[in-house]
Amino acid sequence: MMVLRVSRSSVSAILATGVLLTASACGTTYQLPDSSGAYTDQARAMFAEARSAPKPAPLSTSAAQARFDRVAPRIRVAGQRACQELTATRAGFNCNVDIAIDPEMKQPNAYFTYQQRQPVIRISMPLIKETASDDEVAFVLAHEYGHLIGRHIEKQQQQVVAGALLAGAIAGVATAAAGNYDGGAVELGLGAGAAVGSIAYSKAYELESDTLGTRISSAAGYDPVEGAKFFARAEPARGAGGGYSFWGTHPADEKRVATVLATKAEIDAQQGLRPAQ
Ligand SMILES: [Zn+2]
Repeated sequence: MMVLRVSRSSVSAILATGVLLTASACGTTYQLPDSSGAYTDQARAMFAEARSAPKPAPLSTSAAQARFDRVAPRIRVAGQRACQELTATRAGFNCNVDIAIDPEMKQPNAYFTYQQRQPVIRISMPLIKETASDDEVAFVLAHEYGHLIGRHIEKQQQQVVAGALLAGAIAGVATAAAGNYDGGAVELGLGAGAAVGSIAYSKAYELESDTLGTRISSAAGYDPVEGAKFFARAEPARGAGGGYSFWGTHPADEKRVATVLATKAEIDAQQGLRPAQ
């Protein structure tokens, strides 16, 4: 997920400069792989299998902490390297992400956000406890790294502002505190117009994060296909206390698994990322 913050100053800056939206500001940065055909068939089978598999017994707190401690440093290194390569032409782009467990988060979820301009990935202990392998935690963290590299918060801010302008709901945007990527941008309390702008692209951003996450977790030595099985679990959309779970903000979807499979095939064929057209 990613946290979205729309401040009064960013609204007025956008209004002042007259920069509304161009189509290119909304789309993905990289081409999504073609996940049709055999990848879709394979994803369907994998999806069905993961759905019918018995739920793994939850990890103890110490085992979950140990899993996080094993995985997070490797994803940090691989994610930073990928980020630096892919954003080399963007002066001052901060690829140094602070990855940690969010001790306050009661529902199984993870998110990407900025805290005082510092990119941050947080994952909850309940999520780690539900994972069946290190590959699954690696995939979730790498997916969140994808939201940074794809600049999804920046793009979604522009979309929310533009959507609100279209709906004449600028006051709503100016007072909105925000959300986070994967953390329920829909719950911002904005008018319908604001939500329309952001939701239209969120699906493409999730797939882009899956593509980037597949590459990052693979580079870190994890199996992204094994990791992506986490998405296919039949889990409730809301966790303890009513907050969205990872499955609430990332609805289970065969298309996501097919995208991971297609990206893995590209990695095996040494095909790098291509810019979106
Ligand atoms: Zn996401």
